[in-house]
Amino acid sequence: MNRTESLNHLREYNDYWDILIIGGGATGLGCAVDSANRGYKTLLLDMADFAKGTSSRSTKLVHGGVRYLQQGDVSLVIEALHERGLLIQNAPHLVSHQSFIVPSYEWWNGPFYGIGMKVYDALAGKLGIKKSKTLSKEEVLEKIPTLEPEGLRGGVIYYDGQFDDSRLAINLAQTAADLGATPVNYMKVNELIKGDSGFIDGVVARDHIHGEEFTIKARAVVNATGIFSDSILKMDDQKHENIIQCAQGIHLVLDKEFLPGDAAIMVPHTDDGRVLFAVPWHGKALVGTTDTPIDKPALEPIALDEEIDFILKHAKEYLTKDPTRKDVKSVFAGLRPLVKPPESKSTSEISRSHHIQISESGLVTIAGGKWTTYRKMAEDTIDRAAMVAGVEFKKTKTKNQRIHGWLKNVDKKDPLSVYGSDRVAIEKIMEENDSMKEELHPGLPYIKAEIVWAIRNEWAQTIEDLLSRRTRALLLDAEAAIEVAPKVAEILAEEFGEDKKWQKQEVKEFLELAKNYVIN
Ligand SMILES: Cc1cc2nc3c(=O)[nH]c(=O)nc-3n(C[C@H](O)[C@H](O)[C@H](O)COP(=O)(O)OP(=O)(O)OC[C@H]3O[C@@H](n4cnc5c(N)ncnc54)[C@H](O)[C@@H]3O)c2cc1C
Repeated sequence: MNRTESLNHLREYNDYWDILIIGGGATGLGCAVDSANRGYKTLLLDMADFAKGTSSRSTKLVHGGVRYLQQGDVSLVIEALHERGLLIQNAPHLVSHQSFIVPSYEWWNGPFYGIGMKVYDALAGKLGIKKSKTLSKEEVLEKIPTLEPEGLRGGVIYYDGQFDDSRLAINLAQTAADLGATPVNYMKVNELIKGDSGFIDGVVARDHIHGEEFTIKARAVVNATGIFSDSILKMDDQKHENIIQCAQGIHLVLDKEFLPGDAAIMVPHTDDGRVLFAVPWHGKALVGTTDTPIDKPALEPIALDEEIDFILKHAKEYLTKDPTRKDVKSVFAGLRPLVKPPESKSTSEISRSHHIQISESGLVTIAGGKWTTYRKMAEDTIDRAAMVAGVEFKKTKTKNQRIHGWLKNVDKKDPLSVYGSDRVAIEKIMEENDSMKEELHPGLPYIKAEIVWAIRNEWAQTIEDLLSRRTRALLLDAEAAIEVAPKVAEILAEEFGEDKKWQKQEVKEFLELAKNYVIN
């Protein structure tokens, strides 16, 4: 589906939607899949692009969360490990098994983390990946030759899942559409409509691209807007007290030479008590993250200098080759939508479990949670939304719902593998003419046909959609993404029938945004 088709569905359907979801991140898209899977007439609206918010800015791990085990949140770990197993089965083209090494520099690290990881393995039950084990110093260095050898005693290897977050988001939008839902990006909800009874009856939304306003009727409205949840709750009740605490996390992207090989590094406890990951991702090394409380939600959060210094300082402690600012190919920041506990806690201690509430007027709000648990969050939300909507209750079947693109045994080293079964359609575009096979940039693993595919079939509207979320160019190498922007604008203009002036404006807007991904 593309955006024009989505808009046409929206215009043509004048009756009540059973479930209307506000927000097209992991949470909202999961809800759309769940609702459509049960056969409900489903509409999803996002004010920006799908996954433009937090859902494209994660550490890209499908994990139980070793850290939550340390914090004693065992039920969250069990739930997340179960969901990890389901996601590996339902999106094998996007989720991979990833080995992690916890290096031991203190005598007690080996036995302590060795036992911890055995518990982690056991909690995964039948959906476990591979058993963890203790490694000698030599075995650790064989797997991670760039790990600091001084003082190293050995380590523990364990396994979790890894994925491409915004690609999964797009595939969820496609899955929802395949099941009959209508996902629309760049459509902001500005108002909730209430009937005489005071119950929510629909929304007023504005198309950001064409400026058209829509009044839409719905039996139940789900607020899945992550860090923006409070703004929708305030539309419902002006006296509403904020429930969301934003916590920023940043990542630095380095060249593969800093982390050659397939294994990732996991440091469970830095000297100031945080968790640090260095993970191989699309031929680069992703290093993060931080946990900085932020007062206001923002769609395009910016990494703070002290966060960049924190990551570099710790990366230097654990790597033989010290990364400097010049080595950073891209920096990106994301805001966690944490639900405030009544008692004040530091953001790193706030639980990552999800929270659902229903207001007196029937607004169903889902907040908190993790990418990994999006399916369970959606199931719990739509269970309640169906009751609010007064539609016939049907159980979800998403545990076995294959995600769009489902394909087993893909070669993960092949850049086109992320498209899974859609790869065939991209190969068809490559046959249209020879230019479609051209690489976009020597430093990026993408070709023109992928851009054309995303414009025609994945709702992409802007250079940023194409370079940040359909491909991951901006996150892998921000300078290269900047260089290739005019070429991408040209392809967009060709597909949309736009002129040179439009292209120039698009490039200008992209450069304004992309400069924040470059460190000087
Ligand atoms: C640094 C970091 C690392 C993380 N790493 C991991 C990890 O490795 N694994 C994991 O499982 N989880 C991870 N997470 C958590 C995970 O990314 C989030 O829990 C998840 O992405 C939140 O998704 P969401 O849909 O709730 O929010 P979002 O993705 O922010 O989506 C909300 C959407 O609502 C839209 N919206 C807002 N207001 C309106 C409106 N008025 N009208 C229409 N649309 C609107 C926004 O445009 C946005 O797209 C990480 C989070 C961070 C910040």
